[in-house]
Amino acid sequence: MAQHKNNTLYLVANWKMNPTTYKQAESLAQKTVHGIGGGAQDTIFDSRINVVICPPFPYVSIVSDVSKDVDVGAQNCFYEDAGAYTGEVSSRMLKSMGCSYCIVGHSERRAMGETNGMVNKKVLALLQEGMRPIIAVGEHTRKADNGTVMVDPMIKRQITDALAGVNERQAKRVIIAYEPVWAIGTGQSADPDDILTVRIFIQKTLHTLYGQAGIAIPILYGGSTDSNNAVVLLKNTGMRGLLVGGASVKEDAKEFIAMYATIQQELL
Ligand code: PEP
Repeated sequence: MAQHKNNTLYLVANWKMNPTTYKQAESLAQKTVHGIGGGAQDTIFDSRINVVICPPFPYVSIVSDVSKDVDVGAQNCFYEDAGAYTGEVSSRMLKSMGCSYCIVGHSERRAMGETNGMVNKKVLALLQEGMRPIIAVGEHTRKADNGTVMVDPMIKRQITDALAGVNERQAKRVIIAYEPVWAIGTGQSADPDDILTVRIFIQKTLHTLYGQAGIAIPILYGGSTDSNNAVVLLKNTGMRGLLVGGASVKEDAKEFIAMYATIQQELL
């Protein structure tokens, strides 16, 4: 895992189930790393931005081989170490392949039956391996009351359930991604003011659980981010980075590279 300071921003690529072939994945990984490194032969990354690429399982080693300057994450894991669990992949396996992060509780997985209880078991398994879980939470529908956003209490439940049995020391490795379900892949990102409101709500929840250590847990925003809105969504919202879906695989990663560049130039 690359070493970063406490105030680093996270730019996390969730490739979802893309691209279609191994060769295309090699090309996408190389282009992403090359583009972020500014096209230099020996890529020079900005230590203030922690880039994490989360490819599908079969492409994990491609990304971990392509550069030591990007961290590799998975999009899911199973909570048992080994055994008769056909089709599952354990956190230990992922760790042994170079993954240091793993998204858990993504809404697309919750839609396939992942419960808060399962998310909790996965979080505990990842922490046991010394990995960093990126716990995705978020409401389903956009709610407004006289123009003021009402924070969905479900978010508090998703966080407290996911972190059951996680101690303060382990919590330092946790990342929360606020991803309103209605914003994912729709081209409709949340308003910065609303993101700020939810960020404060999440931080209060984490403070109740872990005191000062809870305040330090990074919170990311995800949902229809691109190079046009990246800075606006981070500026004044207190978010510590972005979880990027569609834009991370678009046009040979051009959009993702542009997001990195605009954050670097306009925010840092
Ligand atoms: C995601 O899948 O986590 C996501 C944020 O997707 P998109 O950026 O495409 O909305």
